[in-house]
Amino acid sequence: STQIRLRNCAKTFADGTRALAPFDLTIEGGETIVLLGPSGCGKTTILRMIAGLEFPDAGGVISFDGDDVTRQSIEKRRVGMVFQSYALFPNMTVAENVAYGLKVHGVPSAERDARVDAMLEMMHIDMLADRRIDQLSGGQRQRVALARAIAVQPRVLLLDEPLTALDAKLRVRLRTEINALLRKLGITAVYVTHDQEEAMALGDRIVVMQKGEIAQIGTPREIYRKPQNPFVADFVGAANRMTGQMRDGRLHIGAHVFDAVDAFDPRHGAILDQGAVELYFRADGLSPCDLDEAHFTGRVEAVSYLGERLRLTVSGIGSQAVTIDTHADDVIEAGADVHCRVNADRLTVFPAV
Ligand code: ADP
Ligand code: MG
Repeated sequence: STQIRLRNCAKTFADGTRALAPFDLTIEGGETIVLLGPSGCGKTTILRMIAGLEFPDAGGVISFDGDDVTRQSIEKRRVGMVFQSYALFPNMTVAENVAYGLKVHGVPSAERDARVDAMLEMMHIDMLADRRIDQLSGGQRQRVALARAIAVQPRVLLLDEPLTALDAKLRVRLRTEINALLRKLGITAVYVTHDQEEAMALGDRIVVMQKGEIAQIGTPREIYRKPQNPFVADFVGAANRMTGQMRDGRLHIGAHVFDAVDAFDPRHGAILDQGAVELYFRADGLSPCDLDEAHFTGRVEAVSYLGERLRLTVSGIGSQAVTIDTHADDVIEAGADVHCRVNADRLTVFPAV
């Protein structure tokens, strides 16, 4: 399957909007890359550049398996696309929609029928073959859009927030199916989303974007556990904050000292040994404990029951309230004191700004 390289690609639109700063990105053959970031950060623009619907500014080069496709049209590139809004032909049947691209590509009718059948079966919509698009649910339409995109055996599959319009349960189910489908086809895929969980579930690697720039590229595990800068940490859910000091490579929080905590300085791309730091962490960065092993004592402001655990909102530890998870069957009420210890390996440490 096809390797995609983007070199020195930037995009400024005709009205002067600078959508993308120059960036490099290599997508390996068969890999699923997820572009993750808030609305307006440039995800769709990258996808459209790979498709040939948008061209990079002068100096940018896009290649497929080493062949320069920078100025090539979408037809020549053989990409399959699926969007949030379905872009299906509403007055055609499901089978006609899936057959459409094959017809355009001149696939003979007998082979066309066989391939349409196979695609419909793969997407579990064979029983809907003769329905019209406007008679389908949102989830069914996205199945048709996927079937249509892969029917032409594209070199690369581009998916732009394909599940965003669907309800939560269906989104998870289709996401699982898309994951299985991409593995089965072994196709190179670029998947755009603003949903962190979707990105984690689907990506071999995730490209986190911020305002037209790549903030980090990494596996889901790297992005989740080793965010390289505060933006990524915050975007992937490390919403709690505390302050501390690095001294001789050890982390000091109040009177407590923690070893083996890596503090990364994104401004210098180096480990930080000295100076004021900000700690980012999720609800597992602190745990309730007995007084004798506690680093801090705070006050429970609120308790929410999340089924498999309790989530506490606690004041008096950081400068703002922090969230802390505990066992679902613990009995803790708002207004109580809670003793906590720090799980230093769950902290991400950046220089204070
Ligand atoms: P995302 O998909 O991450 O939400 P986009 O790639 O759609 O972001 O847009 C990136 C930026 O470029 C935004 O500021 C958007 O308003 C702008 N933009 C997108 N398309 C155009 C266009 N055709 N002309 C001018 N500005 C555009
Ligand atoms: Mg978009």
